[in-house]
Parts: sequence; structure tokens; C-alpha cells
Amino acid sequence: MSYVKGLQEVGEGLYAYLQPDGSWGWSNAGLVVDGERTLLVDTLYDLALTREMLSAMRRAVPAAKQIDTLVNTHANGDHCYGNQLVEGARIVASERTAAEMSELPPAAMAALVEQAPGMGELGAFFLECFGAFDFKGIELALPEQTFAGGLDLRVGDRELRLIEVGPAHTRGDTLVHAPAERVLFTGDILFSHAHPIAWAGPVSNWIAACDRILAMDVETIVPGHGPIAGPDAVRELKAYFEYLYEQARERMAQGMTPLQAARAISLDRWADWGERERLVVNIANIYAELGETEPLNPLAAFQQMAELAGAR
Ligand SMILES: [Zn+2]
Repeated sequence: MSYVKGLQEVGEGLYAYLQPDGSWGWSNAGLVVDGERTLLVDTLYDLALTREMLSAMRRAVPAAKQIDTLVNTHANGDHCYGNQLVEGARIVASERTAAEMSELPPAAMAALVEQAPGMGELGAFFLECFGAFDFKGIELALPEQTFAGGLDLRVGDRELRLIEVGPAHTRGDTLVHAPAERVLFTGDILFSHAHPIAWAGPVSNWIAACDRILAMDVETIVPGHGPIAGPDAVRELKAYFEYLYEQARERMAQGMTPLQAARAISLDRWADWGERERLVVNIANIYAELGETEPLNPLAAFQQMAELAGAR
């Protein structure tokens, strides 16, 4: 689905920064402004991209010269590896996100990308996903303020609510809600027009997160990846996960592995969503929840996604 790169106003004093095409690593971020007060929702995957975003924000909104608060919605690098450039900001995240952020240092990503050319099908897939980003020179700036469950913040006179709905995509996923403007920044709880990926799960908790969003009075949703959306996209995501549960139960009863199931499942209604290879991780996560197998560790997840992507 085509959409435009850059800053877009989504409500009074509320902005989305979008990075098409929204596939692996091409994340969105958000900006909340009231007078001179500013809050940034997430940074991007590398320093050059984050620098480009910050200067686009400053051009459109002079107050963005100084960001007061930075919220990281979750621990994946495409939402926090640019943190060090937001100088002087207080960094806020859920406790679980803060803990998870120190586990995959940017230097490890840099090393993986460097070794990828010698790693066969897995390396080729890894480069396809992450080869466009520069992980060198990143010193991950970690949150100073953490919370569990929820946290109310003010940006000038504007009220914001941080709502922790993880573990789902990662261990500590957080939504950023601007109730008065009916705008929600979801981080990677919503990928619009692409398959989600349940790194942490359980998927049932992700479905509960969808229900929580659907119970809110929200009109505009800034997803973690993909074009601006609304509650319908969350309804679609919930239906997708429910369909996967149904399919996983059936395929498990037939004795299929998650990879065999991911190959066999027909995606008719969701067939045009990007990153179909993530299906195997989601199915494995549901299998684990149904008590049959361990969830995939990240290396196994990438190996199986590489196999599935190779077959496409
Ligand atoms: Zn992401």
C-alpha cells in the first residue's frame, strides 16, 4: 500500500512520522506538542534515519528543537536505536521494555549484518531485512523512568496516557493515547497492511490488547509500521489472530510442524499483507500456548522465516 514518507499532522499538536514501505525496520514514530513542551514517541533504527526525522520535525514544529520526553513503545531497535540523539530528553518506558532493551545491543546487530554474507539462506534473508540500516556507532540510551501497567503524562496542557498491554509483540508493549484528540500511537501492537510478529506473545494477550483498543474512544491510529489507520485495522488484526488459532489447532491435530502449517495455511483475506514469513513465528507462538512446543528463539525464528520467504 503506498503512502508518503515524512511528518503528517494527525490531530491538533499531534504528528506521525512515517517511513514507507513499513517492512522490516521501516518504523513510524510520533510527536506531541503543546506550546514549548514536546514528547517524542520512539526513535528510528539508526542514527542517520533518526537525524533526518528530528530535522523534519524541527522544520515543521520549532518547539521540537528540544524534546522534553521520549517514550519508547517497546524494545525493538527500530523504535529505540536513535535514542542517543534526543539529547536532554527524559526517556520513559515500561519496566519490561527497559529490561529487554539492554538484551540486543546494536553492536550485536552490526556484527550479524557483517557476518550475514557467509551465512547462506539465513544471511541472505537477514540482509534483505536489515542490510539497509547502519548499526555502527550506536550507544543505546536506556530509559530513566519506568512504570508498570500505566502512566499518565502531561505535555503542556495536553494529557497523555501510557498503557502497557504487553507481553504481546515484545515483553512490555506500550500504547500512547491522546484521549482528547482520540489519537492512539500503538507501537508494534499494530502493523498496518503487514503481518504482525509475536516475538513474546502469548497471542491471546495480543488479542486482549486489541479488545482494549477497540473499547477506547479512538479515531486515528498511528501504527508502528505502515500507513495511518483506524479501529477497523485493529478489528482485522484480531480476526487474523483468531483465524490463526483455528488453523493452528487444526494443523497441530494433523501433526504438522509450525513451518508446515505456515506453508499450508491459506491467507485469502490477508493475502495482500506484507512479510508473510512472520506467519511461522505467530503459529509457533500459538502452538506453544496450546502446550505443544517451545516458542521459537530469535535465531530459529529467522531460520524458519528465511525458509518460508525462500519459498515465496
Ligand atoms: Zn518495529
